[in-house]
Amino acid sequence: MNIGILGLGLIGGSLGYDLRSQGHHVLGVSRRESTCQTAVALGSVDEASVEMSLLAAADIIFICTPIALIVPQVEQLITHLNTATIITDVGSVKAPIVKAISPLWERFVGGHPMAGTADSGIEAAQKNLFVDRPYVITPDATTPLDAIAILEEIVRSLGAKIYHCQPEQHDLAVSWISHLPVMVSASLIAACMGETDPEVLQLAQNLASSGFRDTSRVGGGNPELGVMMARYNRQALLGSLQKYRQNLDELINLIEQEDWTILEAKLLSTHQERPLFIE
Ligand code: NAP
Repeated sequence: MNIGILGLGLIGGSLGYDLRSQGHHVLGVSRRESTCQTAVALGSVDEASVEMSLLAAADIIFICTPIALIVPQVEQLITHLNTATIITDVGSVKAPIVKAISPLWERFVGGHPMAGTADSGIEAAQKNLFVDRPYVITPDATTPLDAIAILEEIVRSLGAKIYHCQPEQHDLAVSWISHLPVMVSASLIAACMGETDPEVLQLAQNLASSGFRDTSRVGGGNPELGVMMARYNRQALLGSLQKYRQNLDELINLIEQEDWTILEAKLLSTHQERPLFIE
């Protein structure tokens, strides 16, 4: 199959590696000429160009640009395509994207691979990034079934686990497990940097180990992506943040009241509930 990728960064470049290894011919388009050359040199794509017309030969195209560009890019892209081409995207927010693109392109299927790292750009792309990771597909009642089946077959070949849901359900769910953690983790780093004694701050930085590495990882990631999550999933994220603030207030109260019994009961619950999210 001829597979197009628009936006050769972490996700687009990683998809390219795996799709080529499956024997597909991968056509890449990116903004910068240097990125196109790097993507070909690294073996992430077979051909690359800054011109969208390269993607006219693709059977299916993955839009992998930053969220804010997905809809405007599709508006430009479709002028180069024949109507049989399937378009899918990898944006971390689904409802506004699906709502905007569905009326423009009949063979559009929204998607979101739940995989990533703290890095960005073509150099950060990795092979096998999607293995054993969830990949959400958000078709609606009008999405052609054969387009869904073709996307599913490709996603399955990446080793990913497929989930289907409504775009709005997706946005609420990722608000809890992806967008809220970014804000919480960023707040953790900012709060620690609020230590006013420079010697204590330096000591804390020297002592930071695996616990801090785990809890600060997503807050120390790509700032552009974090802003996009907040901007495009604003309502759901605000709801999650408010619930989180209630939980923090509850913890503050328990510690102020020295209510160690209730605190322990609460921590016992979270100890038991964590495996419900992370196997
Ligand atoms: P990224 O590494 O920054 O890659 C985005 C790439 O898009 C850039 O490398 C850039 O390539 C290219 N680009 C920017 N403007 C463009 C334009 N006008 N035309 C064509 N290409 C353009 O970002 P990413 O992490 O891969 O994220 C891409 C998408 O994946 C986003 O929609 C995000 O929501 C989604 N996503 C991200 C993650 C994650 O954890 N990172 C996970 C799942 C989904 P140049 O070098 O050519 O400028």
